Amino acid sequence: MPSSDKLAQFLGLPELKVTAFKKERIAANVLQAKKTSVFEVCPKCATPSSVIYDHRIVRLRDAPVRGQSMRLSVKKRRFFCKPCRKPFTEPIQGVIKGHRTTYRYRRAVLWACENFSDLARVRKAMRCSSGFIYQTLYQQIQGKLGEKLNYPWPTTVGIDEHFFTRRRGRAEFATVFTDYPNKRLRELAFGKVKGELLAQLHNIEGRESVRNVIIDMSDGYRSFIKEYFPNARIIADKFHVLRLLTPAINKRRVAITGDKRTREP
Ligand SMILES: [Zn+2]
Repeated sequence: MPSSDKLAQFLGLPELKVTAFKKERIAANVLQAKKTSVFEVCPKCATPSSVIYDHRIVRLRDAPVRGQSMRLSVKKRRFFCKPCRKPFTEPIQGVIKGHRTTYRYRRAVLWACENFSDLARVRKAMRCSSGFIYQTLYQQIQGKLGEKLNYPWPTTVGIDEHFFTRRRGRAEFATVFTDYPNKRLRELAFGKVKGELLAQLHNIEGRESVRNVIIDMSDGYRSFIKEYFPNARIIADKFHVLRLLTPAINKRRVAITGDKRTREP
């Protein structure tokens, strides 16, 4: 699965494909996404249509990262239904009609409610209204947001460095945390430096019960893991090792055959 699809799945929007990651203003990041289905079914008469009428952009608010706001910009298609002689907008799983926020955002609001001393601070940090805070809390009490809100770390966690984009010649990294037994993404943090990671992960419960952390052969995360997952042992993953070895294998092949073609894994 390409990483852009994994990212969409992680955001609770499995049907979407993330097409770009952009910086809009100094403190505003935007992920662009779209649906790629071949046809959609008219909600009125259930006739499938593959005739695209036009597009609409829907903006969703995502959880802020290091004080920077995150938005999802979803390009929604409108299809033309011949029997109804009308266009209809494609639905997107995980985006409730009228909702303009992601699960991650609502989870961050709840965390802020538990940890900040008053609502004014929550409003300021999350840039939202009191009404939105009440609505989110109410939904949590009703169980409507499900277990996605705050489930603890699994016993085995995979950590992967993820090259994101290149801005002004600089590499940007994200760190991806996997729920290893369930082969699912668990968390995404920007950057790969210990301090950055600690700041972003402090609201997740159960780090003391993590027994294993699977990483590649690089030592980059070791000091972070020792501090954040104090009871875990570190395991090197052979697939990561293989990926690391490939450049060495290519070099050897060039030396033997003189063939300079390179093939990335
Ligand atoms: Zn129709």
